Amino acid sequence: MNKSLQAFNTFGIEAYADQLIEINSVAQLREVLQDITEPFYVLGGGSNILLLNNLKGVVLKMSIPGIKVERTFKKVVYLSAGAGVNWHQLVLYAVENDLGGLENLSLIPGTVGASPMQNIGAYGIEIKDVFHRLEAVEIATGKVKVFRKKALAFGYRNSIFKNKLKGKYIITKVWFKLTKPPHRLRLSYGAIQSVLAASGVDQPTIRDISNAVIKIRSEKLPDPREIGNAGSFFKNPVIDVKLFASLYQQYPKIPHYPQADGTVKLPAGWLIEQCGWKGKRVGNTGTHVRQALVLVNYGNAKGSEIQALALKIRESVRQKFKISLEMEVNIWD
Ligand code: FAD
Ligand code: NAP
Repeated sequence: MNKSLQAFNTFGIEAYADQLIEINSVAQLREVLQDITEPFYVLGGGSNILLLNNLKGVVLKMSIPGIKVERTFKKVVYLSAGAGVNWHQLVLYAVENDLGGLENLSLIPGTVGASPMQNIGAYGIEIKDVFHRLEAVEIATGKVKVFRKKALAFGYRNSIFKNKLKGKYIITKVWFKLTKPPHRLRLSYGAIQSVLAASGVDQPTIRDISNAVIKIRSEKLPDPREIGNAGSFFKNPVIDVKLFASLYQQYPKIPHYPQADGTVKLPAGWLIEQCGWKGKRVGNTGTHVRQALVLVNYGNAKGSEIQALALKIRESVRQKFKISLEMEVNIWD
């Protein structure tokens, strides 16, 4: 146990692994997989994990670089990026080159390789909307396989890699299908329009949208460099219309978003807030003052303390609303 992982997870949890190997190419990854005898863990930017204990094994830190324009057509451009590319750097590259589709996903921490895992999303866009294909190495055989969009079974903060193929593949490269101008802008979500209006922008570009999202996120969400966190700890629950109807009767102010399939999505942050948890501190942990869905490490918290708080929060929500929150963060034990 001699490699500290504190700088490698945005919760800032102090835990150790036997070794950390930086993976810089597919060829190196295949060699490592052939030789490895210990258990191993695949790490991107560490912004969606909670370390409960020291890890008995090796961490493979995905650092495969490279952003490339693969093909250009009249209306669309295919852009690829290595698994180790920082997600926000990819978004900025697209914005600088006037390639549309990623701008609403500005400032999400982490790497390109992890982005399909939970079909990252924000401000009305998910990566499934711009995803074309990915390349991954099968852990059991070392074979390189290409997955197209349909094969990934993308869902709300979900993909096949969190279910049927969990722990079976390591993503090495992702291709995105982006637009050339004129772009289809997505402005209806959250505070984007009001921020644009306040800045006097009436004909927004994708750069304006990216800047607006950066502004909103910087003001609302805790910066992991200042206070440890992994973003939303739980997924927003999607419930059936019958349960929603009974909740609505009891709580007429409940924010809700009807889905295309007839179900209703509720903001988990609101449910947690109604249980009195917003901004509450418990020892070294707590929920963020501006967004109760974000659990934070005030310094020196153990992973188990954060997990204990999460379980208490989940129980309060279950008792008050009869809804069982599902954890979004990946627990590493
Ligand atoms: P990690 O945390 O390193 O890994 C996450 C999981 O993916 C692990 O199980 C890991 O084993 C696996 N994994 C990582 N890389 C690979 C790979 N190459 N191949 C196979 N498996 C891999 N998420 C959103 O969806 N929307 C948001 O708006 C958002 N905002 C956030 C804001 C903050 C402040 C923070 C801290 C987090 C936020 N997140 C958000 C969560 C997180 O940033 C994303 O889930 C991100 O994609 C995780 O990337 P990562 O590289 O850090 O993954
Ligand atoms: P918010 O704007 O306060 O909204 C709360 C929740 O309500 C969001 O999570 C969102 O669900 C839902 N919502 C809001 N407006 C909606 C609309 N017009 N249509 C459908 N659903 C709507 O949320 P926030 O915490 O500030 O986050 C803003 C965005 O960034 C959200 O998209 C959120 O998912 C994303 N984000 C994600 C993480 C993470 O770790 N996963 C962390 C921070 C922010 P959706 O989540 O489905 O969008």
